[in-house]
Amino acid sequence: MNMLIKATAFAAYKHRNQRRKDADSSPYINHPIALADALANEGDVGDEVVLIAAILHDTIEDTETSLEELVAQFGREVAEIVAEVTDDKGLPKAERKRLQVEHAVHISGKAKLVKLADKICNLRDIAASPPADWSVERKREYFDWAKAVVAGLRGVHPALEAIFDKAYEAKPSAV
Ligand code: NDP
Ligand code: ZN
Repeated sequence: MNMLIKATAFAAYKHRNQRRKDADSSPYINHPIALADALANEGDVGDEVVLIAAILHDTIEDTETSLEELVAQFGREVAEIVAEVTDDKGLPKAERKRLQVEHAVHISGKAKLVKLADKICNLRDIAASPPADWSVERKREYFDWAKAVVAGLRGVHPALEAIFDKAYEAKPSAV
């Protein structure tokens, strides 16, 4: 519990100047907290390593945080899970999206849980509070890409996979 609170404080500090892309520019930290909430309270995941990794999952990718810093603060297991769900920002966007689909099946079970929660929460965000400038077509493409990533994650937690499928039902209709 203390480590989970430490991770929440750490992530809140690291993401302190960032906002989500919705019209209200919600505080970024709402997103990692939503992942941990979905895992713990919808998926009944009690593994604190998974919950801590969920809280930290976007720190390496989106803030000035190194793998070594996470190892020092939270231990190697947590840090490695965060690394597993981190895109290589040196690659073009389309390539990163392709690699997520390709890599999903090969990551660890704990990283699969974090990634599954990330996709659940992002579909919910796109349905309820989408990036302000996204067309319906772009939202639909994101839903289908998320589904392709989740195809590689399946088998690790059927109840959370069903929750993803439920979130996918909110895919916007074509105009
Ligand atoms: P982005 O990757 O730029 O944005 C999606 C990501 O933003 C999510 O994965 C999430 O990541 C984060 N995010 C922040 N706020 C929100 C929110 N409110 N709702 C949901 N997600 C949020 O966009 P795309 O996934 O579309 O990737 C870019 C790709 O799209 C490129 O390949 C590009 O070629 C293509 N593109 C398509 C267009 C189209 O109209 N079809 C137009 C322009 C580009 P996290 O969990 O990490 O926070
Ligand atoms: Zn995320």
